[in-house]
Amino acid sequence: MKILVINSGSSSIKYQLINMEDESVLAKGLVERIGIEGSRLEQENSDGNEFEIVQDIPDHEVGMELVVNSLTDGDKGVISSVDEIEAVGHRVVQGGDSFDKSVVVTDEVKKEIDRWASLAPLHNPANLMGVEVCEKLMPHATQVVTFDSAFHQSMPEEVYMYALPYELYEKHSIRRYGAHGTSHKFVANQVAKEIGKDVEDLKIITCHLGNGASVTAVKNGKSYDTSMGLTPLEGLVMGTRCGDIDPAIVPFVMDKEDLSPQEMDHLMNKESGLLGVSGISSDMRDIIEGAENNDKAKLAYNMFVYRVKKYIGSYVAAMNGVDAMVFTAGIGENAIGLREDICADLDYLGIKLDAEKNNVRGKAIEISTDDSKVKIFIIPTNEELVIARDTKELVAN
Ligand code: AMP
Repeated sequence: MKILVINSGSSSIKYQLINMEDESVLAKGLVERIGIEGSRLEQENSDGNEFEIVQDIPDHEVGMELVVNSLTDGDKGVISSVDEIEAVGHRVVQGGDSFDKSVVVTDEVKKEIDRWASLAPLHNPANLMGVEVCEKLMPHATQVVTFDSAFHQSMPEEVYMYALPYELYEKHSIRRYGAHGTSHKFVANQVAKEIGKDVEDLKIITCHLGNGASVTAVKNGKSYDTSMGLTPLEGLVMGTRCGDIDPAIVPFVMDKEDLSPQEMDHLMNKESGLLGVSGISSDMRDIIEGAENNDKAKLAYNMFVYRVKKYIGSYVAAMNGVDAMVFTAGIGENAIGLREDICADLDYLGIKLDAEKNNVRGKAIEISTDDSKVKIFIIPTNEELVIARDTKELVAN
């Protein structure tokens, strides 16, 4: 069975065609700058063949047509007909409390994705557009959606509620939903495999540290708590997001700086985090380099590390212990010194990193010392594979 995995953004479509017989990636690619000047597609096939198509891509439908043509092209393609694509798995960011697992797309499902767009206005409409275009271009294929929020639906009530008037929850569904769920679930399951135990018998702290970043306490295979909240703004210091702040700062700054709600939202989501503190960049590589001679970059780095450490400590308390910890995503997989700094002085909790084993990037590997009570891993995340596996299971059923 061949499954196409789609991550449709507002101006881009990321895709992977996966052969589910052996879970190998036949081709992967990216359509970018949809609707803006300089639009293009790039694709890399499993045989190493790479190509780029530069042309006008005014909308997602044209973009998706180009994807299908690139996959089926007589010379450059990897399949001979679009009919070989049995199912399409789509990433959807926000499913609220309507979905705790992946589902086959129906009209009702599409209505729900649209309804939850209020909490993910940049993502859900673009995700839905991807679904609708694929329905049109591949009517023979089953369409499945996987939600970033679904894994966190197992959080207990006392964890997901905010201590605001209860009616705000009833009226506006204000509670914590979390994000990056597909990634947290994948790396937690991989860790269990590496250890050779059932994930249901383990307490794992998963650190998804990318431009967006979150930490999750995975207890017995289920998300127990996660650092992101109603939106991805809560929690860690991120590339451009502030993460946790005193909520009283919001009206205070709006008043002092004469900002509208939208401007305040922009400040916290796009002008804060590593970028806001350092004043130089949202990119961790620049921050690490800049920290050598720039005090604000050093401060941004230290704040990032400290916040992760604090969440790790709180999740050990929340789960009454931890068996394993895992680093994933761009920063988690690659920033060697940063992993070392996060794990420094956590030996009281039984967390001891082996500096030599840790001297590696982007590889699935254990990096704890032999006497570390808590096993520490790097696991490259693979959200596409989770989406493909869920899709396969739903098609089979
Ligand atoms: P992601 O959002 O998962 O693609 O991760 C992007 C983040 O990973 C950016 O902040 C990058 O600077 C960071 N990153 C990628 N490679 C490295 C590296 N070698 N060292 C430190 N950070 C890195």
